[in-house]
Amino acid sequence: MTAAVVVLNASFEPLGIVSLHRAMAFLLKERAVIVEAVPGQTVRSATAEYPFPRVVQFREMVRVPYKYGVQPWTREGVLQRDRGLGCAYCTKPARPTTIDHIMPKSRFVGNPNTWLNTIAAHTECNGRKADRTPLEAGMPLRYQPREVTTRDTLLVAMAEVGADLVALGLA
Ligand SMILES: [Zn+2]
Repeated sequence: MTAAVVVLNASFEPLGIVSLHRAMAFLLKERAVIVEAVPGQTVRSATAEYPFPRVVQFREMVRVPYKYGVQPWTREGVLQRDRGLGCAYCTKPARPTTIDHIMPKSRFVGNPNTWLNTIAAHTECNGRKADRTPLEAGMPLRYQPREVTTRDTLLVAMAEVGADLVALGLA
C-alpha cells in the first residue's frame, strides 16, 4: 500500500503527489477535503480516526506559478513513456527493455540523452541498428518520441495510487 496522495486544485486540476503525512496536515487544517478514500482503511491521529485519503482537493484555488514543464530525462522514463507502443523498430510483442539513441550517441552533438533522441527498442533491434541513424539502417521509426511532462508523470503516479482518473475527468 503506497502512501502517496494525489492533490487537486479547487478546479480539479491535479497539482501533485504528496506524502500521507502532508495530506493529513492539509485535511486537519481544513485546507483540503477528501475526494477519494481507500475503502476499509483509516488513519489514526492522537484523538481521532479518519478515512485513508487517496485523492484530496484544496478548498480554495491555489495559484500555480508554472504550467506543466518537461521532466528531466531518465532511462526508466523512456521505457515507461513507450510502454504501450512497444519497440520502435519492430512489431514483435516482447516488451522492449533497452533505450535506443535515434541519432547515435557517438555522433550526437551535445547531450544525447533527451526525450526526443531516445526510444524504446528490443536488445536485438538496438544491436542491429548499431551506430547508424534509422535512415542509414533502413529501420524507420514506428512512432515518434515525445517529451515527457510533469503532467504525464502525475497521471502515471495517480494511476499507481489507484486514483479514479475517469471520475476525475482526466483519463
Ligand atoms: Zn524490436
